[in-house]
Amino acid sequence: MYYGEDIVEEVRQKTDIVDLVGQYVKLKKKGSSYFGLCPFHGEKTASFSVSPGKQIFYCFGCGKAGDSIRFLMEYENLSFVEALEELAERANVTLPKEEKRDKGEEDLRYKILEINKQAALFYVKQLRSEKGKSGLAYCAKRKLSGESITHFGLGYAGKERDSLYQYCKSLGFKDQVLQESGLFSFKEAGVYDKFFNRLMFPIMDLHNRVIGFGGRVMGDGEPKYLNSPETKLFDKSRNLFALNFSRKSRSDFFILCEGYMDVISLHQWGFPEAVAALGTAFTEQQADLMKRFHSLVYLCFDSDGAGKKACKRAISILREKNLEGKVINLLPYKDPDEFLKAEGKEAFEKRMEEAKNAFLWEVEEKKNEFVLHDPAGMQKYMESIAELLRTVFSDPVERENYLKAVAREQMLKAENLQHLVDQREEKIQLSFGFKKATDGKEKKREEKWNSPLEEEFLSVLMQRNEFLPIARKYVEEEDFQGDFAKEVYGKLLSGTDAKLILDSYRNEEEKYQKLAKLYHGDLYHMDLERDEEKKLLSDYIRQLKLQKIEAKIREVTDAEGLSLCFKERDKWEHFVFG
Ligand SMILES: [Zn+2]
Repeated sequence: MYYGEDIVEEVRQKTDIVDLVGQYVKLKKKGSSYFGLCPFHGEKTASFSVSPGKQIFYCFGCGKAGDSIRFLMEYENLSFVEALEELAERANVTLPKEEKRDKGEEDLRYKILEINKQAALFYVKQLRSEKGKSGLAYCAKRKLSGESITHFGLGYAGKERDSLYQYCKSLGFKDQVLQESGLFSFKEAGVYDKFFNRLMFPIMDLHNRVIGFGGRVMGDGEPKYLNSPETKLFDKSRNLFALNFSRKSRSDFFILCEGYMDVISLHQWGFPEAVAALGTAFTEQQADLMKRFHSLVYLCFDSDGAGKKACKRAISILREKNLEGKVINLLPYKDPDEFLKAEGKEAFEKRMEEAKNAFLWEVEEKKNEFVLHDPAGMQKYMESIAELLRTVFSDPVERENYLKAVAREQMLKAENLQHLVDQREEKIQLSFGFKKATDGKEKKREEKWNSPLEEEFLSVLMQRNEFLPIARKYVEEEDFQGDFAKEVYGKLLSGTDAKLILDSYRNEEEKYQKLAKLYHGDLYHMDLERDEEKKLLSDYIRQLKLQKIEAKIREVTDAEGLSLCFKERDKWEHFVFG
């Protein structure tokens, strides 16, 4: 960390986490906390909580937890310093300049950003120069407007093998950072630009900073499209092309398509909602990213076999993340660019209106896998639909609605389909011997840490520090079995404030989340009368002690040792403090 603790604390104090989170997540007050749908995992019931008193968030579903800085880091995919700077700006805190980014990782990210920015400017200049003729000619052939070229920052990488490298050297960048940027190949014979003779598409993050490039070869070279490799900055699975623009559209949906050219063409035709995966298959993280903004995604993939396959994959990911998918039919054209050029904007809007529910589209596609005029083929087809209905929809009402819609569309008897679904459901229940949970997806993650007893006790102590003196009197660190529990208890004993203890694990995600849960978890039994409290605390202490003694009894081998243990056990068995 390159800012002092004081200034970090000041930013934290001047930021209200409820205000901050409220800008991204719809929150509702419930008791002393606020609840909303978790932005970090797919869910239908709100298990994401924000505590104004403790200034932290905690998700009871996926366990993500943290303070305001952590929230922004996770949500906007920022580093600690970047998040801090953004919050400082919001809170009108002036950060000291000289402490900024002076070494290490943070500095490297910053330098790679700078190289990318310079490279983007360099490519833009080249496109407008004599050398860039072939690039501009290609843009003209694809009917890209001058506005689009500027808006997306398109550029051109020339035919020389090291012009960008020479340019960056002239700006004073060192080989070591240039190597980390992913834009160059360092070989024995010399250093070469990775991109040459290509039309360049800068890839930007949510903050319009260039984090990588895609390049389309001019002419017939291979590969047709080349992307920057992953770097400290550029994680392909966590970014989407043009999301920095489309997130600002006024619509409440995205159009997901296959390539850079599709996206640019759609934007040019008046569909600023278009985004594309970055030369990889659509990923879960990308779905998470989209979900932060909208819950409806139009799928606009090529009409060929590869496009359909990619579409199916995307549908299952959207479903996993509880995003609604609709499939746009582009036939008889191959891709959105072709469609728009031939049919225009209104025709495309019409196709969007007619876009098919993703599940019904999948069922329709399944037809092609079976020979339907053969009764055996028909049977298999229906069975596969039943299986799909059973696995995709756990909610009985939702399943029935879909079953009816499928039956109507495919002209099948709903009862027959229902029969097949029921048959399958019974088989599953028999083979497992129990009914499956109503919604497997939202089943809470099993937390294995120390014994639940130790967790609960620590949770009580973290939230009610007036109990500490009593705990101190009877319980030692060594009474805890779990190492982490020992550590935390030790810190509590030394008088460290619970909030500060939590903060001290900021860089150890797993521990942080566990601790946040204890610090923030419901103490449902803490509305007690005075003597009930006393009993509860006595229970914890007694059980901790007994747990330790039982462990010792299992180890001790001599009679004398055992009898000591038994005496000890008798003493604690009836323990009540005070
Ligand atoms: Zn969650």
